[in-house]
Amino acid sequence: MADLGNPVNTIAVLQKYQFNFQKKFGQNFLIDTHVLDKIIKEAGVTKEDCVLEIGPGIGTMTQYLAESAREVIAVEIDKALIPILQDTLSSYNNVTVINEDILKLDIGALVEERNAGKPIKVVANLPYYITTPIIMGLFENHVPMESITIMVQKEVADRMQEGPGSKEYGALSLAVQYYARPEIVALVPPNCFMPRPNVGSAVIRLTRHKNPPVEVNDEAYMFRLIRASFNQRRKTMANGLKNASDLNLTREQVEEALTKMNLSLTVRGETLSLEQFATLSNLLKCPPVSPNFCSKNWDISPFP
Ligand code: SAM
Repeated sequence: MADLGNPVNTIAVLQKYQFNFQKKFGQNFLIDTHVLDKIIKEAGVTKEDCVLEIGPGIGTMTQYLAESAREVIAVEIDKALIPILQDTLSSYNNVTVINEDILKLDIGALVEERNAGKPIKVVANLPYYITTPIIMGLFENHVPMESITIMVQKEVADRMQEGPGSKEYGALSLAVQYYARPEIVALVPPNCFMPRPNVGSAVIRLTRHKNPPVEVNDEAYMFRLIRASFNQRRKTMANGLKNASDLNLTREQVEEALTKMNLSLTVRGETLSLEQFATLSNLLKCPPVSPNFCSKNWDISPFP
């Protein structure tokens, strides 16, 4: 099959199948061979690898992955694309297409079945409308993976990479950085896609940490603290956390922990590093002052 990275070939396939782009599925297909080569290179795909591609579209990047990887599993939600993929990928015997919603699929079970539970690589030009749930789903469900190399909206890539003090820094930055080391590896303009998105894009590689960079007694609790701190961005931490119904904290408890950490009582969440959130979480969830302090009152329901 002809290289779909060439726009002439993409147009021919779209016309042959009378394909109508579905905005609701975030369909912007890549039509630039340099960008495709760059993604494969930055993902470090080799013949040893089992790769999960989320949203293969008409199979453009799937072709590149099939050439470089041992095995490719491509998960596509749009039924109309399945016969097209059967055609465009017919010359590869190392690709499996699954017609499913990635958010409903048990990816852990899939990795167990297809790669004997060994870490996979995730490579995708993501549907932008569900970038965060896809990434957090992969991390929080502890899917065995080495890395995630994905095309996302430029602004979202910045958010994943930023540190304290920046206006893009937030709950997503902290969550991603807890699980992985993020690196933006390419900026991609709208004219590399068909149809053109109305935002800039970036390729970001998230290399999974072997061990988390901070020690935290209760991961789920730390993420609740983080979310509560950034939900009320304009408020001080003491006010933001005391108002969070799922944390059940008093202003005094928050202030006591901040004092122990030598932080100002008017500090805002956006200035705290991941390490500081971990310390705060350990102090609030299981303060060392008295063993009775870790009472039932502090036990919160599991992270949703
Ligand atoms: N990989 C192709 C490319 O680069 O040309 C297409 C990328 S396009 C940005 C996103 C793809 O994800 C579309 O094919 C879309 O139908 C698919 N998609 C959207 N939502 C999905 C979901 N929940 N599960 C699986 N695939 C999805």
